[in-house]
Amino acid sequence: MTNNKKPYVKPTIIKLQSGLMNKFGVSPYYARKVRSNIDGVSIEELTKQFGSPLFVFSEKTIRNTIREAKEAFATRYPNVTFSWSYKTNYIDAINAIYHQEGSIAEVVSEMEYDKARKLGISGENIIFNGPHKSIPALKKAVQEGAKIHIDHFDEIDDLETVAAELNKEIPVAIRLNLDSGIQPQWSRFGFNLESGQALDAVRRINMGGKLRLNGLHCHIGTFILEPNAYKTQTEKMVKFAYELEDMLGISIEYFDIGGGFPSKSKLKGTYLPPDVSVPPIDNYAEKISQGLFNALKPGHFPKLYLETGRGLIDEAGYLITTVFASKRLPDGRKSYVLDAGVNLLFTATWYKFTIETDREMQGLGEPALLNGPLCMNIDILDEGSMLPPMKRGTRLILSPVGAYNVTQWMQFIEYRPAVVLINENQVEIIREKEDLSDILRRERLPKRLRLA
Ligand SMILES: *Cc1c(COP(=O)(O)O)cnc(C)c1O
Repeated sequence: MTNNKKPYVKPTIIKLQSGLMNKFGVSPYYARKVRSNIDGVSIEELTKQFGSPLFVFSEKTIRNTIREAKEAFATRYPNVTFSWSYKTNYIDAINAIYHQEGSIAEVVSEMEYDKARKLGISGENIIFNGPHKSIPALKKAVQEGAKIHIDHFDEIDDLETVAAELNKEIPVAIRLNLDSGIQPQWSRFGFNLESGQALDAVRRINMGGKLRLNGLHCHIGTFILEPNAYKTQTEKMVKFAYELEDMLGISIEYFDIGGGFPSKSKLKGTYLPPDVSVPPIDNYAEKISQGLFNALKPGHFPKLYLETGRGLIDEAGYLITTVFASKRLPDGRKSYVLDAGVNLLFTATWYKFTIETDREMQGLGEPALLNGPLCMNIDILDEGSMLPPMKRGTRLILSPVGAYNVTQWMQFIEYRPAVVLINENQVEIIREKEDLSDILRRERLPKRLRLA
């Protein structure tokens, strides 16, 4: 016999929070939703086996999302390739899934380049972006046939040095920044189109005679909620390519329009839930193909690369964390100490996560703080959600956390937890929990400082 009577909860008096008038609005992010499992594997089983905190990725969601995105583009433009943005999440197993799904690699540093090569990706299937590429890194990438996207004039000089050393012409692309209507405009990377800087860069490349421009790249930002910006962007890029053809006889073989598609995540300070405010991938595909068809000459279908990161992985990632303690702050607010904080969820700075619990919660909700384990005031994962009283040991499941967290996490005072991948009820470790040997591996203690 089960006892269905609800447990007694002590009455509490709290200050009235005036709904929409309060600073944070009503949060749809904690709706007393219970999540007992991820893809059929129970939260209890996961934490019993792998501990808490724990990052969990759903292979099914990853594959479904990339397949849906590929379909959205393939049905509209005949020559599209996805290039997985490594910095969004570069755990080998995650990269491997995207590569199995037909994506090439997009890297922004030598470390990421090496990681892709080690995984077995050939140079030709790597797009090498980023503002900091050393001459040795460029040389290696050129020898291995990578697609190099130039960020600034100094890099043109560096690549010419490499071309001279290797005695060969190097095919290159340049990164553009341009006004697509998105504010603030990202102008830090690449050459500005409207000011004429991009044309100067192409002239400079031509004059040197050692590099051959064959591609144009532009990444307008991240979490772009306006599909039309991509239409403006592609039209401008194609128009520029034809100008280069007319003026300088240059033939652009590919366009790379970067990433930036949003996930169903919620930016702080926005009020609409993501299901309402985040346009579906089809809207982006539609605007981009409109932009291409408006500007391209009939019958001309140059290669289109997409470097989508966040939009493909974010929803596939969950963090399970446990209530370790709770306390009442002097200002009356309730604070929960969790075993995970901003050390693991760097994106908490900008995004509000969906909060679910592993069990039904009883009792009156009150605005509470979710704090992490760090000895730092800024270690706040959530602020202002109406949370019921939570006992020690309650598991919280935060999502979506698949993008940028397992690359931007930091080791500060704690070990990083395990990362697991669920594939058809099977759970596999894709990154082990750290231990002291990870911390000590690179340290060297001079003999004279050794204690006894
Ligand atoms: C970060 C980055 C991406 C991926 O951006 P998302 O917003 O995650 O889609 C793509 N291209 C370049 C050059 C980047 O730096």
